Amino acid sequence: MNLFETKCKRFSRFTSEARDRDLTEAENSFMSDHRAICPECSRSEILTSLAMQLLQSSTFEYEPQHDFDTRLARKMHSDQIKNGIRYWKPAFVGLAVGALLVLATLQMLGQPKTLPAFRSPGAEARRTRNIEPVFPDLNESIIHNID
Ligand SMILES: [Zn+2]
Repeated sequence: MNLFETKCKRFSRFTSEARDRDLTEAENSFMSDHRAICPECSRSEILTSLAMQLLQSSTFEYEPQHDFDTRLARKMHSDQIKNGIRYWKPAFVGLAVGALLVLATLQMLGQPKTLPAFRSPGAEARRTRNIEPVFPDLNESIIHNID
């Protein structure tokens, strides 16, 4: 970095600082010195100040349109509606998810026969042989006693 470049940077810094505060005498003399020897900085300073003037004039000389109040009121009203939708949106999403769950459950309950486990004969619990009484004499003795 050479000295000349540093001076150009300082010039550009002072150019922007001059918009917010008054430059000191030393800074002002540096500015005029550099302006005299560096045409690029001099030109960019002019361009910058022109741009700033343009920006300021477009910002401060803006006149509101005649129906500004009406349009502002309309905008605020539509913003209120939008905020309302934003507020209730989670509830709507929750409702939709709940409705989907109910529909899915009904769908599953409505078609139990299509599930393969219910159609397979092996899935059924079956008795493979006749059960014999644990106490074979019991029935006979009861019958005998009744007689
Ligand atoms: Zn310069």
